[in-house]
Amino acid sequence: MSAILFEQWRYGALRRINQTNCAVNAVVTDVETIAADTCVVAMGNDSNSVLRPLGIRLPIYPVKGYSMTFPVGQWNGAPVIPMADTGRHIGITRLGDRIRVAGTAEFAGNDRSLNPKRIGNLRRFFLDVFPDYPDPTAGVGWTGFRPMTPDGIPYLGETPIQGLYLNTGHGHLGWTMSCGSGQALAHLISGATGDLDLTGMTLASR
Ligand SMILES: Cc1cc2nc3c(=O)[nH]c(=O)nc-3n(C[C@H](O)[C@H](O)[C@H](O)COP(=O)(O)OP(=O)(O)OC[C@H]3O[C@@H](n4cnc5c(N)ncnc54)[C@H](O)[C@@H]3O)c2cc1C
Repeated sequence: MSAILFEQWRYGALRRINQTNCAVNAVVTDVETIAADTCVVAMGNDSNSVLRPLGIRLPIYPVKGYSMTFPVGQWNGAPVIPMADTGRHIGITRLGDRIRVAGTAEFAGNDRSLNPKRIGNLRRFFLDVFPDYPDPTAGVGWTGFRPMTPDGIPYLGETPIQGLYLNTGHGHLGWTMSCGSGQALAHLISGATGDLDLTGMTLASR
């Protein structure tokens, strides 16, 4: 079996998955059509753009999160271990010479703009916890989307179309679950016996 890890920068954006007699036979990108008998859709919030034309519609919705990243500079009071405020759902993580403060959940469709109020909350939280941080005006804001499902469980496994698999909808835990999900899919596709029971995560079971 040969496989292509689909990277937009190399192959162009994926536009369509072709099927004949309910079996995958190609993927169509901006630049070419690539013959394929197996395809894993792992496109987070964009997954439905290629699934919908095949008659599959997943309940995945973008839940917007924010982060502020502060330079450590010469500050010697910077934390060295991650911290979390479970009440306010905000985490503070040291990333080398930067500190990242991340959290919040906002329903804003696909609007990527930075809501100044939410960014302000992250800044205020950071400065409350570390009042000795030397430059209260520093910090760069960022926003990204969590591909959430209503039950918080990702979609993993087969679809009614032969050769078409799902690995999407990991919500706020996509990094945590990425290796396990990838391995479970690899086992399923290659026919190996996996450790993970996918019951409850498949399309057919929901
Ligand atoms: C503020 C914030 C903090 C978070 N913190 C954590 C954390 O601490 N721990 C944790 O486990 N998770 C965390 N997450 C969640 C995590 O980021 C997501 O669950 C994860 O990114 C989902 O991964 P994914 O690959 O399924 O989707 P995405 O990361 O959305 O990746 C989808 C990919 O598909 C590509 N794509 C889309 N359309 C096309 C197309 N047409 N053709 C080709 N490629 C396409 C996109 O470019 C993208 O690279 C956080 C999220 C946010 C917003």
